[in-house]
Amino acid sequence: MLQASMLAQARDSASILPAALQFHQLYQQLRDGLADTATARVRVRTLLSEIGRYYYEQKTVDASDTSLFFPVQGYGLQMIGGKNGSDYVPGKYNFYNTFGNRSHPAHDIFVTDKDQDAIDDNSNQPIKIFSVTPGIVVSAEHCWDTTMNTRGGNYIYIYEPETKMMYYYAHNTVLFVDIGQIVQAGQPIAYMGRTGLNAYKKRSPTHLHFSMLQFREDGTAFPVKGYRYLKRARVIGK
Ligand SMILES: [Zn+2]
Repeated sequence: MLQASMLAQARDSASILPAALQFHQLYQQLRDGLADTATARVRVRTLLSEIGRYYYEQKTVDASDTSLFFPVQGYGLQMIGGKNGSDYVPGKYNFYNTFGNRSHPAHDIFVTDKDQDAIDDNSNQPIKIFSVTPGIVVSAEHCWDTTMNTRGGNYIYIYEPETKMMYYYAHNTVLFVDIGQIVQAGQPIAYMGRTGLNAYKKRSPTHLHFSMLQFREDGTAFPVKGYRYLKRARVIGK
């Protein structure tokens, strides 16, 4: 469901692209098991191509710059769960039907936060989340609370039309970006948090859940192991 505040914002701002808002609504319906898979795939194909057209028209991103940025401020590869990215378990993950799926097509990037207040124990500051690549925000949740049963909490989906790659950043607290907004690589997009059905529980150490999805021309999508991309990503310090 769209938050009332977001709808008000959408009406106020001509910069929020209708196709991105429609993608957002469709994604949330899919996530909640409320959309037909086959119809949704056709719709996603159309929406992503519209979003891509808009993105190129804006000319705000230099597509020739392929620098990647590590998504967690002041932390690097060694904080990814498992060994050499072994926490990535694609299983039978399907963007269009995530029900009954125990896969983890993602990396969890942990930080030092013993008291679980989402403040870095070393710097005493909140931890910024950076966009790994440029792209456009196509879905976001700003107002997660513990009465909601969604796992991503305050999440952001950023689509990069150049590569047809979708990036997912979950469990944040405050988001700095909104649907329809174009972001640069390395731009701060959120503060790390503990939002989400499992992430807010005590047994879960504070982390960013980060995943990459490759979309194809026909709207199908498959998960991609982010580790080899993150290996060449630049870490932004504190
Ligand atoms: Zn995770």
